[in-house]
Amino acid sequence: MYLVADISVEICAAKSCKLCTQYCPEANTILYSDEMGKDKGFKYGSAYVAVDRCKGCAQCVWVCDNMAKNNAIKMIMIDQLPMAALTDNITYGEKSTTATLVSPVVG
Ligand code: SF4
Ligand code: SF4
Repeated sequence: MYLVADISVEICAAKSCKLCTQYCPEANTILYSDEMGKDKGFKYGSAYVAVDRCKGCAQCVWVCDNMAKNNAIKMIMIDQLPMAALTDNITYGEKSTTATLVSPVVG
């Protein structure tokens, strides 16, 4: 078991700045979805983490807390996640990475 980043849609969708997607050192790990916020009634979408690619460095937490001032990301033990996104397909050049929501999470 290990720590991964978990983004609160409820908190992120209020700001949706996408800063964390630019600062995560792992490619295609923090992704962005319009639907994730809008299908919950928010004006904006939300960032989310493909947990199978997250290395647990917590850099995104620092960015969200200190640059975005939104405190939407927490580090959480992977087996404590009620739902998680796993990488579905990766095409680096076309930026078409998608992830599938799965539950329960296998750590
Ligand atoms: S930095 Fe925070 S508020 Fe901005 S997109 Fe990432 S999780 Fe959302
Ligand atoms: S903990 Fe590190 S690797 Fe994981 S999503 Fe945040 S910045 Fe990326």
